[in-house]
Amino acid sequence: MKIEPKTRMGTYFFYIGLCSFFTVILNIVHMVYLLKIDLFATAFIIPVLVGILFGSMLAHIKILSKKLSKMAYTDSLTHIYNRLHFAHFLDAEIDKVKRYGSTFSIIFFDIDHFKEVNDRFGHRVGDEVLEQITDIVSTANRNADIFARYGGEEFIILTPETNLKGALVHAERLRKDIEAYEFDDAGHITSSFGVTEFIAESDTVESLLDRADKALYLAKEFGRNRVEKA
Ligand code: GH3
Ligand code: MG
Ligand code: MG
Repeated sequence: MKIEPKTRMGTYFFYIGLCSFFTVILNIVHMVYLLKIDLFATAFIIPVLVGILFGSMLAHIKILSKKLSKMAYTDSLTHIYNRLHFAHFLDAEIDKVKRYGSTFSIIFFDIDHFKEVNDRFGHRVGDEVLEQITDIVSTANRNADIFARYGGEEFIILTPETNLKGALVHAERLRKDIEAYEFDDAGHITSSFGVTEFIAESDTVESLLDRADKALYLAKEFGRNRVEKA
């Protein structure tokens, strides 16, 4: 089992402890037996100082690398996955379904008349709407659903083990949740949804996303604030 510290302080304690432990062992072997230095300084003071120094450096590097990898796969405004990372999940799900069977669906949605929100209330309010919509959808999604910001005011959800019928029900619930929500400054906002199910025999990533996009286009064409399938 891999032991991983959960908090920032925990990371520092973990690496300081780890470095101290190894310097205690090294010091005892090296200094007491080879150089004949006093046991107390050898076994406690030197290792703790070395442990603090190297442990802090290691912890700092670990925290920074975690931050960097999180930045690479999440969207900076909404903190959900970005489009690039979504593509990795999609590839993996396609492999899984082709190998083991089952199915999955894609829900693609876009906020209606979002440009007007920015124009009327400003970009900051537009950003808040994007954050609040992310919260509404995250709350309604299942844990297994992969939710990402696809770009601008467009979002995408991969729903594993879900056929078209199930995904349509879920999209309709999301549509209603967004429509019913009273946004802080912008009031009521709607969004349009395109839904499609993966066809294992013939689909590629491109054909699947094209179909979801086509369904979303239909939802816009038929008057917005609706769910369409393709
Ligand atoms: P439609 O109903 O056809 O989707 O119309 P729309 O106005 O939502 O679509 P359009 O493509 O004309 O405008 C999208 C707007 O989304 C324009 C762009 O400035 C805004 N937008 C994209 N990304 C962000 C963002 O991160 N923050 C804010 N505030 N606005 C954004
Ligand atoms: Mg839009
Ligand atoms: Mg758009």
